[in-house]
Amino acid sequence: MSAAFVTRFAPSPTGYLHRGHAYSALTAFETARAAGGRFLLRIEDIDVTRCRPDYEAAIVEDLTWLGLGWEQPVLRQSEHLADYEAALERLRADGLAYRCFRTRRELTLAAQSAPHGAAPATPGGPLPAAEEARLLQQGRPFAWRLSLAAAEDRLGGFDHLSFTEAGAGPDGETGEIAVDPWPGGDIVLARKDVGVAYHLAVVVDDARQQVSHVVRGQDLFAACHVQRLLQALLDLPAPVYRHHPLLVGPDGKRYAKRDRAQTLREIRQSGVTASDLRRELGFSR
Ligand code: GLU
Repeated sequence: MSAAFVTRFAPSPTGYLHRGHAYSALTAFETARAAGGRFLLRIEDIDVTRCRPDYEAAIVEDLTWLGLGWEQPVLRQSEHLADYEAALERLRADGLAYRCFRTRRELTLAAQSAPHGAAPATPGGPLPAAEEARLLQQGRPFAWRLSLAAAEDRLGGFDHLSFTEAGAGPDGETGEIAVDPWPGGDIVLARKDVGVAYHLAVVVDDARQQVSHVVRGQDLFAACHVQRLLQALLDLPAPVYRHHPLLVGPDGKRYAKRDRAQTLREIRQSGVTASDLRRELGFSR
């Protein structure tokens, strides 16, 4: 098939990988192999408050044990902060980003008192210039948010924007999906504590690495709406998306770091071989 098929596995080194990650990485890897394409590993380590080098080393070790190989050099997002800053600067220059001084608590309270159906995290748009100057003067921390209202103006509405789902979303969504970023509200482009946020870094890197197919879990399906919008605003190419169902444990719940799901290293230490695990996950080779 197409030699232009490029996909990636993009874990954040905030913990040890578990079965769910193994399933996702193998799905991306095997999809690339079947397409005669390329498989990349990308370390999404922009969140300096949570990422750790030992987790990154463990990711490489665990994936190697699983039998995966990837191209070098591995892209580490922490080494490309200037590029995300440049993308943010472009959005700012185009009047699409604004400073948000609200705390998480204030936003939660605002969402609770908002009329039913209002966007969950819409913090009300930019402040009047004098108010903003006063808060800046006080040294109050702020995040940069994308203004959906400004983005809508700029693009003349979102009606003509869509993304291609070649797998399926959590509710079976497939094919050409109309972009609707409103439910997500004015997302954060750069956090108060970290100079960039997830969505911006992902779209910059998917374009930089010429990712043609994003193969990832259905938990990230909703992210496509804003990621496709950012691609349009930054004139970046749109990859095809291929979301896979999430692996569930014997209790019917998805595996997650926070639930202390058994890690790949624990599985390995218990004597399970990589081929055992691959078979268990439905990969015969
Ligand atoms: N870094 C994200 C995560 O760990 C994945 C990003 C993506 O695949 O788009 O969930």
